[in-house]
Amino acid sequence: MNTSGEVPTTISVISTQVLDWTDGVVGYLIEQGYSLSHITSDDQQHEALNAPYPDIIMGIGDVQSLSSLRAIHNETDHETTRPVFVLITDNYSGELPLDWADLVLPPTPHYIDYQLRTVLRLRAENTALVRSNRELKAQVDETRQHLLELQRDSDHIEILKTAIVHNVAHELNTPLLQVKSAVSLLAESAADRGEQEVLAARLATNATGRLESIIRNITRLSKAMDPNLGPVMLRHTFAAALRSLNRSWQPDRDIERIQANIPDDLPHLYADSEGLTIVLELLLDNALKFSRENATTPVELSAICDGETVEISIKDYGIGIPKDKWDRIFETFYQVDSSTTRSYGGIGVGLAIVRLILERHDTRVYVDSKPGAGSTFSFKLNVYSLK
Ligand code: ADP
Repeated sequence: MNTSGEVPTTISVISTQVLDWTDGVVGYLIEQGYSLSHITSDDQQHEALNAPYPDIIMGIGDVQSLSSLRAIHNETDHETTRPVFVLITDNYSGELPLDWADLVLPPTPHYIDYQLRTVLRLRAENTALVRSNRELKAQVDETRQHLLELQRDSDHIEILKTAIVHNVAHELNTPLLQVKSAVSLLAESAADRGEQEVLAARLATNATGRLESIIRNITRLSKAMDPNLGPVMLRHTFAAALRSLNRSWQPDRDIERIQANIPDDLPHLYADSEGLTIVLELLLDNALKFSRENATTPVELSAICDGETVEISIKDYGIGIPKDKWDRIFETFYQVDSSTTRSYGGIGVGLAIVRLILERHDTRVYVDSKPGAGSTFSFKLNVYSLK
């Protein structure tokens, strides 16, 4: 198609009359650079329908060319870019149903040329718009499809992960409980036996204790990954953390050392109560564990509200952490001193769990510490608001 003169605009002219290619409308259009062909017979009509379509199919004058034009229009595949249908007549009264014709023009050459250019330009713009619209739609469909697949994958992984965690925890727990009761029976009777048996029983007790804590942490981790945020009272979660510490009581964790300073009028926090309980329990457990040599020092929990957030800190006066390890301690299985496991127990996942739970609350945990003087772990949570 051509409205700028590069490629000639093609017009198939339908007319029963012999056309004078040098005269009138036809002559003028050729002069303007349009490429015209004449259709008279049925065969030629069908030829006119063969792709690629001409840009314009034009009927000139009489009733017969009008009906041919209409027949061609009805056969044209309108899904693809269709030709512009133009009827040239000087006696169109508006009585014929011409809703299929795009233009009805009087046989005035200049006027026809002007109208054709306008229509062709608009059509070119429209075609470009339709094409880019189609491309955009295809892109949107593709993106949506991609998102759906990602969603399906992640749902699938999530289900799989939960199932694995659940099964692993369950599968490990059952034999562990059997071993644990067998070991405690052994330990009781070992008292009358030799030193070797006593040692073996103690080692086995420690091992079952460690396994138990691993299983507890796996279960905690899976729960923490799916937080249920809502209003939470710090006082209640602190009490729950203490109960849990009590249940897993170990001789070196003297929970009496914990001093909580929680203001009576502290507003509700926006948090997952189970997740926050786990965070408090793990931080308090570490604070007690790594300060057990200084048995007279307290472990302090405090909460300070600035109106919008509450900063919760847990401070101990224990062995402390060198500054170059402050980041690493939040990695899974990292322990500052590899002999820590032997002397303090634990497996190095507690702080990784704390970090993950707080990330699910869109916040993070900070540490401040001095070797030999003690450590403070702190984090902020939003105050719960109804808005
Ligand atoms: P675990 O306590 O089971 O070893 P964590 O992930 O809870 O694992 O802690 C990782 C490491 O960070 C600990 O092994 C210890 O070296 C250090 N750490 C954590 N809390 C304290 C603390 N309150 N005081 C001193 N060191 C700590």
